[in-house]
Amino acid sequence: MKNKQNLFFILGLMAIGTMSFIFSGQPSKKVLQPLPPFTLPALPYASDALEPYIDKLTMEIHHDKHHKAYVDNLNKAIAESKDSKLGTMTLSDILATVSKYSPAIRNNAGGHYNHSMFWTILDSDANDKPSGELELALNKKYGSIEKFKEEFSTAAKTRFGSGWAWLIVNKKGELQITSTPNQDNPLMDDVKADERGYPIVGLDVWEHAYYLKYQNKRPDYIAAFWNAINWKEVSKRYDEAVKKK
Ligand code: MN
Repeated sequence: MKNKQNLFFILGLMAIGTMSFIFSGQPSKKVLQPLPPFTLPALPYASDALEPYIDKLTMEIHHDKHHKAYVDNLNKAIAESKDSKLGTMTLSDILATVSKYSPAIRNNAGGHYNHSMFWTILDSDANDKPSGELELALNKKYGSIEKFKEEFSTAAKTRFGSGWAWLIVNKKGELQITSTPNQDNPLMDDVKADERGYPIVGLDVWEHAYYLKYQNKRPDYIAAFWNAINWKEVSKRYDEAVKKK
């Protein structure tokens, strides 16, 4: 009798363990935690899902090491800051007032936001397309999707050193291509006024994003990116940005 009870107890524990493993293994829908301490969102697909365009090892190191370091260092900088208000601010609030804070807050808050967004605008569907509305807006601004890709790729190729290329919806509600150094982004209060806006595409052109597979050939990585872009998510972000107007 005692043994039977123990057996049920053990089976119960195993069931609870399995359930919590299943739930914790789900990709986080809530990409950005509302308040500190911030957490590393899971990749919304397997680390090899973007092969051959972005390789598994790059994805693992980029997400598990680089992005994790931005999250950890952001939490550390917030915890060590004399400004206790920081502990009650969302990531968007921090970015919108980032000029008031230390380089550690700036670089790591930017790094956390940029990478959280980056994972979601990638996917394994090489044939998806922008929504009708986004396609219309891209055609209106750039003439064609191909011309848009060319202009965006030029911004990504010519960003000197480390940084990001962006497609934003600017204050006038128009599409605009920009780029920023380091982990800056178009949501920060002190980026150039005419380059502020809501990012709908962000491409990481730090060497850590491509060096293992592409070495010094950044243009090859940028060309491959167009096969891994998640147009569905980008279109969703475009809708959100336009509705905010
Ligand atoms: Mn990166």
